[in-house]
Amino acid sequence: MNIGKEVLNLLKEEITEVEYNRYIKHLNYDLKKSNANLAIFYAPNALVVNWIKNRYTEKISHLFEIKSNAKVTVQITLKNKVETKKTKQIVEAKQSSSLLNTSHSFSNFMVGGSNQFAYAAVKSVSENAGNVYNPLFIYGGVGLGKTHLMQAAGNVFQDEGKVVIYTSVEQFLNDFTRSIRNNTMERFREKYRKCDVLLIDDIQFLSNKEGIQEELFHTFEALKGDGKQIMFTADKHPKKIAGLEARLQSRFEWGLVADIQPPELETKIAIIEKKCEINRVSLSKDIINYIATVIESNVREIEGILSKLHAYSQLMHIDLNLEFTKNVLKDQMNENRENLTIENITQTVAKDLNIKPSEIKSKGRSKNIVYARRISVYICRELTQNTMPQLAKYFGMKDHTAISHTIKKINELIKDDEDFKLKIDELTNKITSAS
Ligand code: ADP
Ligand code: MG
Repeated sequence: MNIGKEVLNLLKEEITEVEYNRYIKHLNYDLKKSNANLAIFYAPNALVVNWIKNRYTEKISHLFEIKSNAKVTVQITLKNKVETKKTKQIVEAKQSSSLLNTSHSFSNFMVGGSNQFAYAAVKSVSENAGNVYNPLFIYGGVGLGKTHLMQAAGNVFQDEGKVVIYTSVEQFLNDFTRSIRNNTMERFREKYRKCDVLLIDDIQFLSNKEGIQEELFHTFEALKGDGKQIMFTADKHPKKIAGLEARLQSRFEWGLVADIQPPELETKIAIIEKKCEINRVSLSKDIINYIATVIESNVREIEGILSKLHAYSQLMHIDLNLEFTKNVLKDQMNENRENLTIENITQTVAKDLNIKPSEIKSKGRSKNIVYARRISVYICRELTQNTMPQLAKYFGMKDHTAISHTIKKINELIKDDEDFKLKIDELTNKITSAS
């Protein structure tokens, strides 16, 4: 017996038989729509609805509270609105897909070397659901555009009238546990296994959650069996996600696994220009270039920076120029400078230039090692309190004159070569935002 019926039985003992037979007996508890805090009953006609509403809702709510130890709102409604399965599905699909952000479109997505593989994969899936890469698995660091791409495909499908479910692991899990608790698993399965497209974001959160992994596995099998498109994102390759069932892990790799890398400078610039266009902010080229060097890789920062700039300029009635921009963003850059060490600077430079940190410290004379060493020396001098002799010792250089010579050289290069200056700025910002 469900809780709704139990409550009505309790009520029966408290009222007269006539009242019970005339009104309460006709109530139907909606097991599927009700949940821990909401009890829905259907009555056959308006008279009964009104009668019960006026006299019994408080009582019924009280009895629920006794039974379930939770505060429950009671709703008495007319039975006539029996939804057909189809409309119910559409309503549900609309609810889940209303989460799609329409500005996450392909045309708003700037393509560069770092993301073109993922872009091409998602684009071709959007043109050929279920037939090219199924599932499609996109992975990469925070703020690199995974959600944007996934939703871009979702928007295309939705415009074609497909039933699209976009969800995070967290939402999927909440939905799942609620369905278990309310005994509505059937409905849950109907929803997730009968959609046309299932998009699940941030799969890494499945880690070590067995129950939901099993459910996702069966959902996957059902959808895949019906040729329905499935897409996942995560912050790492499926092989690297710990605490994942082997069968699920292997299925993640069945279709195509595509990565997104941090954007190159040019891509960052293109993204900033796009965001300016979308947000109707107009910035000069030098400001855009500057912002591109301030943000390391997380593209999400761009929007924050744009609105910060916009707000400041409005408040202070100033036209945006580079000096002003630098001032506004100074905090952003200075915040972490205090804890910088030679080690973490060298490490970041080495990583960026694809050599080993130990090589920078070595006496190696090859061109790219010397280049990396000079840059490291320069940035260490700029960002740390180390003296020239200390730097000379660390980098295995002869003495402080070797250091001052290096710094002079770099300063000349910065003056003469715009690209080199951008590179130094980018590295500096990478270092200050990474620590
Ligand atoms: P992720 O899901 O990888 O953490 P998001 O998709 O949420 O990242 O992207 C963060 C923000 O950056 C969003 O506002 C998104 O529109 C924007 N973005 C990321 N990459 C690009 C790109 N290549 N072109 C345009 N906008 C981008
Ligand atoms: Mg995301």
